[in-house]
Amino acid sequence: MNYSELANVLTQNNLKVTPQRVAVLEALMSLKDHPNADAIKEFVHKNHPNLAVGTIYNILETFCEKKIIRKVKTDRDFMRYDIEMHRHHHLYCEECDYIENYYDEELDKLLQEYFNRKKIPNFNIKDINLQILGNYNDHNPIKKKY
Ligand SMILES: [Zn+2]
Repeated sequence: MNYSELANVLTQNNLKVTPQRVAVLEALMSLKDHPNADAIKEFVHKNHPNLAVGTIYNILETFCEKKIIRKVKTDRDFMRYDIEMHRHHHLYCEECDYIENYYDEELDKLLQEYFNRKKIPNFNIKDINLQILGNYNDHNPIKKKY
């Protein structure tokens, strides 16, 4: 994504285009694989060494509020961020801490039908994301460790 495409994402979400926001968005788009704040900070600092960490956190919060990204929690302590807002689940490898997006429309339909039928009392379901824990058979060394 080039600068104007990144700027477009911000304008579409009613956010003022600032170099800081563009830099953080660029990091999220480039890192793809559910980066944590450290990885984002590292990426941003390559081109913007003076961007304060607090600012980066604030921008990430704003992006979450605008639903440009969402937070992903794993069993480890780091908060990670997901730029893919289409419906998907996560395959989480406990050994290498890698999170892979898992798309499965059949499963989505099944879950939706199940909960429509089940009707949990006093609770409105907005979204269902599964975190499927496991590990890869063939550990791919390319998969990045956090
Ligand atoms: Zn994801």
